[in-house]
Amino acid sequence: MTRPSVARIDLDALRHNARHLQALHGGRQLAVLKADAYGHGAVDCARALRGLSDGLAVAFVDEARALRAAGLTAPILVLEGAFDADEVTFAAAASLWLVVHQDRQLHLIEQASLPDGALQVWLKVDSGMHRAGFAPERARELHQRLQADPRVGSVTLMSHFARADEPGCDLTARQTALFEQATAGLPGPRSLCNSAGVLAWPSAHRDWARPGIALYGADPLLRPQGCGLRPVMTLASQVFAERWLAPGEPLGCGTGFTATEPTRVGLVALGYADGYPRTAPTGTPVAVEGRRSRLIGRVSMDMLTVDLTGLPDAGIGSPVELWGAQIPVNEVAGLAGTLAYELLCNVKRVPRHGVGYATRA
Ligand SMILES: *Cc1c(COP(=O)(O)O)cnc(C)c1O
Repeated sequence: MTRPSVARIDLDALRHNARHLQALHGGRQLAVLKADAYGHGAVDCARALRGLSDGLAVAFVDEARALRAAGLTAPILVLEGAFDADEVTFAAAASLWLVVHQDRQLHLIEQASLPDGALQVWLKVDSGMHRAGFAPERARELHQRLQADPRVGSVTLMSHFARADEPGCDLTARQTALFEQATAGLPGPRSLCNSAGVLAWPSAHRDWARPGIALYGADPLLRPQGCGLRPVMTLASQVFAERWLAPGEPLGCGTGFTATEPTRVGLVALGYADGYPRTAPTGTPVAVEGRRSRLIGRVSMDMLTVDLTGLPDAGIGSPVELWGAQIPVNEVAGLAGTLAYELLCNVKRVPRHGVGYATRA
């Protein structure tokens, strides 16, 4: 028997989410597939989204290179832009779209020898994130400069939200207003919304949406009742051994858990080396045989332990879901002190099994 731990990727759920977000935002959609599609497998996800999204987005040129090598022909936006002249040349040759967010990248483009109209550029304006992007006062001048450059075929104006996942925070409205003011009258399409913007800020919807996390079914607003999205990844395994703990007996490494009553423990062959967070405490929900139970004790590198005490039918071979449709990844992330983003893109070592759309014969 091979280790039963697996990350199942439901590509039909991915397609459902893309359609749902498209219906909310309208216009065109770039599916954000950076970090290997947040741990879901960028090539499979890109193939599943063919015909549903108008383009793809990744963080780095190397990520785009891998998608091109796999035969994907959709437009790909490189969100952090080019790092050197070779990347600019490659971008033009491979029809990648480049974000430009700093002067160095502007100079790389202006010094490149490229055919006329070879580069599609997204000019990033810093409307309040204060991380990457040009000061809003420079948007007009830079837009004109790029439009006048013969190498540049088109310029899209973009900005990124810092706190769109907080519906009560007025920063998003202020960022939108500042972006509007800085780009008023300039021609060309615009793009503001990440997932939270699409879900919570209709006033910020523009020509292009850039959803990431919501495509994978995790609500960035952490609403307990869900939001019409379906989880794409199920991190699952099976109980592979069991034992009883007598009252007073500690479990596993360190001081995570000591039984206060007779406790039946199931061992699961999946640990923090697979990306399950070591910071998840005793009590973090898991599903065993389709019923909610809890993690007990410390998560080890290759193993974790679940409570089978109230589940007399469960035993060796019982299916265990760590997150997925029964256990929202947001719930695990919250208890582990992190976000679904980090948990999903940290999944490794377990085999990834695509199910649904792109895997059917
Ligand atoms: C990662 C990223 C996104 C997607 O963000 P989500 O919160 O995952 O929807 C959109 N735009 C930019 C510039 C990004 O870096």
